Amino acid sequence: MSPITVTSPSSGDHLGEVAEHSAAETTAAFVAARRAQRQWQETAVTRRKQILLRLHDAILQRQDEILDLIQRETGKSRASAFEEVMDVAITARHCAYAAGRLLAPRRARGALPILTRTRVERDPVGVVGVIAPWNYPFSLAASDAIAAIAMGNAVVLKPDSQTPLSALKAAELLADAGLPEHVFQVVTGSGRVVGQAIAHECDYLMFTGSTATGRELAAIAGRRLIGYSAELGGKNPLIVAPDADLARTVPGVRAACFSNSGQLCISAERIYVHRDIAERFIPAFVDAVASMRISGGLDWEADMGSLISAQHCERVAGMVDDAVRGGARVLTGGRRLPDLGPAFYAPTVLADVPEDAALYREEVFGPVVTVEVVDSIATAIERANDTRYGLNASVWAKPATGSRIASRLHASTVNVNEGFSAAWASMDAPMGGWKDSGLGRRHGAEGLTKYTESRTVAVQKVASISGNALVPPETLAKTVTLALRWGKRIIR
Ligand code: NAP
Repeated sequence: MSPITVTSPSSGDHLGEVAEHSAAETTAAFVAARRAQRQWQETAVTRRKQILLRLHDAILQRQDEILDLIQRETGKSRASAFEEVMDVAITARHCAYAAGRLLAPRRARGALPILTRTRVERDPVGVVGVIAPWNYPFSLAASDAIAAIAMGNAVVLKPDSQTPLSALKAAELLADAGLPEHVFQVVTGSGRVVGQAIAHECDYLMFTGSTATGRELAAIAGRRLIGYSAELGGKNPLIVAPDADLARTVPGVRAACFSNSGQLCISAERIYVHRDIAERFIPAFVDAVASMRISGGLDWEADMGSLISAQHCERVAGMVDDAVRGGARVLTGGRRLPDLGPAFYAPTVLADVPEDAALYREEVFGPVVTVEVVDSIATAIERANDTRYGLNASVWAKPATGSRIASRLHASTVNVNEGFSAAWASMDAPMGGWKDSGLGRRHGAEGLTKYTESRTVAVQKVASISGNALVPPETLAKTVTLALRWGKRIIR
């Protein structure tokens, strides 16, 4: 088959070619992975931890080379690329320490006090399939793989065909850190062929991408009765309360909306600002957005880079133009930047977007945010929750106000006085999607134990619960009744 050509969306440079693998080659990767996994499962947890901590150090040390590659492959700014480096390093550290704790057999309360000794053990599921998107191609490839590997699994990963090089770099770094051969394999190729083969072969499937593909893969996982988690689209709300600290809120909201050119499942696309602060917030925010520095340079100067492709830029422009035709007002942006390249779009703030415009409810996945003035926090919360998605939300307010608002939002992560990073980087806490934003969780204990099967072992001492030769059934029933009555008072 002809290879996949990788081209930089910002510079147009030819970056390389990777193989377009077949379904049979994907199956062969699983055969090798299963063999490697059996050995890996037997490798001491301390050794696995050492490898992950070595990876952590290598990523920080080799960050310039990694940042250059991510930027070239995606067109994103260096600051957005650094989010990927930081994420993989934090994940490697977190998993290195947490896996041992979570894999250790855990004592559980037994059926009968003293007489039943119960413990929970965990085994890896086997070979985990990961299908990754293009928006964070280093971090969304490496981080999910690291979690699965830390729990004793092997991983077969398919990167998005637009960004395979970052995933291959992650594989190289893991191999350099000492990961045995075939424990982590990257199989390049299309979703239709390699992605489908992975879904049909793996023991657990982790997917990040569109809701449409997520549903299709869920059906396969359902038929096969394998575990599945998916992080899908979002239409994330952001609330600015009257007591928000404006000096901090304006740059913070800008980052919440335009990091990675808005191509981030957890970035904000809808701002609800309280009327009491709107007159001060909106002009300051629009000025801050209008002054953003856009470029494809591999330095730290740009606030925003390009989009992933000219085709995606066309889609974003189409959604904005449609909203404007319906009556939306452009407060800043609203146009392509052809002088910079075919994939550049100006950071855009829209007001008065009509409810029947696609952009009102559908994810743009680009540098576009809508602003709506609301009369009360209750209305802001109602509007924020009026969506089929439920991934991330952000609230700008005094901490106590923000915390109260946060608890009423229908999203798996809510950041107070931060756009998305505070909750995302809280590795010990779960994140994922409510409603159409997905299934299952990454991070937290759930994000690691999902890659295992549990085994409850209960050892019954002295007398059997379900009867034995020495005690007649009626006597046993009376004794158990008495025990249950007492148990209710002491076992909680
Ligand atoms: P997508 O089509 O779902 O692609 C994501 C990954 O799934 C790619 O690796 C893709 O492979 C693979 N894939 C596609 N169809 C498949 C199938 N039928 N079976 C197995 N694998 C398949 O997403 P997209 O088109 O790149 O992005 C569209 C939308 O997805 C965005 O607008 C956004 O809503 C959402 N998205 C969300 C995130 C997130 O982080 N939550 C990230 C990216 C995109 P190939 O493309 O190589 O064929």
